[in-house]
Amino acid sequence: MKIKNKLSLYFTVTSSLLMLLIMAFIYLLFSNLTRNDFYQSLHERTEIAARLYLEADEISPIALNKTKNKYINSLPEEEILIYDSTNEIAFTKDSGKHWTKDIIDEVRKKKYLSYKENGKQIVGIYYHDNQGDFVILASAVDSYGQARKHKLLQIMGVLFCIQILIQFAASRWFAQKMLYPIQEVNKQVKKISATDLHLRVKTDSATDEIGLLALNFNGLLDRLEKSFDLQKMFVANSSHELKTPITNIIGEVEVALSRERTSEDYKENLLSVLAEAERLQTIITDFLLLTNAENNPDATVAAPVRIDELLWEIKEDFQTNSVQHIDIQLSSLPEEEKLLYVNANKALLTLAIKNVIQNGLKFSKNKPIVCILHISGKTRSIRIIDQGIGMEPEVLKNIFEPFFRSPSAKEYPGNGIGLYITKKIIELFNGRIEVSSQKGNGSCFNIIFEQ
Ligand code: ADP
Repeated sequence: MKIKNKLSLYFTVTSSLLMLLIMAFIYLLFSNLTRNDFYQSLHERTEIAARLYLEADEISPIALNKTKNKYINSLPEEEILIYDSTNEIAFTKDSGKHWTKDIIDEVRKKKYLSYKENGKQIVGIYYHDNQGDFVILASAVDSYGQARKHKLLQIMGVLFCIQILIQFAASRWFAQKMLYPIQEVNKQVKKISATDLHLRVKTDSATDEIGLLALNFNGLLDRLEKSFDLQKMFVANSSHELKTPITNIIGEVEVALSRERTSEDYKENLLSVLAEAERLQTIITDFLLLTNAENNPDATVAAPVRIDELLWEIKEDFQTNSVQHIDIQLSSLPEEEKLLYVNANKALLTLAIKNVIQNGLKFSKNKPIVCILHISGKTRSIRIIDQGIGMEPEVLKNIFEPFFRSPSAKEYPGNGIGLYITKKIIELFNGRIEVSSQKGNGSCFNIIFEQ
């Protein structure tokens, strides 16, 4: 069932139940009043009968006449009986009806009694007169009251049906009006496909729920579009990155095979092929690491890694490979040993830090690198400072984008994904990376963990 219909139905049912309750209350109130009114009328009839029969000798002829006139207008199916102190009938208007001794005694005891029996209302009063003590009982059918109640029920029934119809129509109209923006959003969403990710849902208001839904949906589209663009760029760039070394390898091999060469020439060719193959291997390893870290972050096993030890290991690693100089400085080490640990995957974290150091060495043509570990409270920061070519502000904005390489970096080897991977790894372990640099004045990368 459509929300529009559901809403109208809920509204109608609730308001009809409420209406039913109100009507039931009015009906009960009305029947109560009618019943009491009729008891009152019966009471008056008993008093008229008493005056007419028991006090006829005591009142003036005019008053007696008036009472007689009143007495003539009897109630429907009226029966009036007057009993004396010995429970004998002293007066009866209509024959046939008798009240039991128990009822007469009860009236005498309570002085006033009213009740309902077989559709008739009965009132009994105790009457003391100079002629003695009497019990007067009067009964009648409240046919006017019944008819009025019946009429009221009919009116209420008709009103109830009309109310249901009006309520349903009105709630449908309101629901339609309220849900109209959703229909609009729906129509617009239908138009958006993977190829139209630039389209956005238009919204008039950002304060109501539907406006917020549209805004959130647009936010989701922003993120999707960005990630689609990134993917497209990644595929385009990575194909290019993979193609270049393969083309170079094919070129080298073709040159080598084009004619007979000396063993020296072949050696030179093979070395070039090896260099290109190694480049290819680095790119593929980086891609694999990146996809693993991006696609399956939960599967990346993390364990406490002692950062100072990791830095010494990295330094050693660089030094065994070449003569590069890395100066490790440990400033303000904590008393508590556990603050030296970061929860991360050692291999990935090593790769991330090495990428930054490698860049520092590369872009400074192997000038010394300073690596400062600073721990204050729960904040652990690793600052890597180089004396390289530095970067302009517009370069700084883009260095973490995949395949970005500044124009001045083009003369240095590289593929532009090192820092992208580094940032991903550090964020994977809840850290962040910041950079400050000036063209020609070296750069400072700061890797921070605050957990
Ligand atoms: P690659 O080093 O392979 O070019 P990266 O992702 O590591 O790729 O770096 C992206 C770009 O950021 C580099 O091409 C360079 O323009 C700039 N960059 C990174 N580190 C430094 C640095 N230490 N000094 C100057 N420029 C840097």
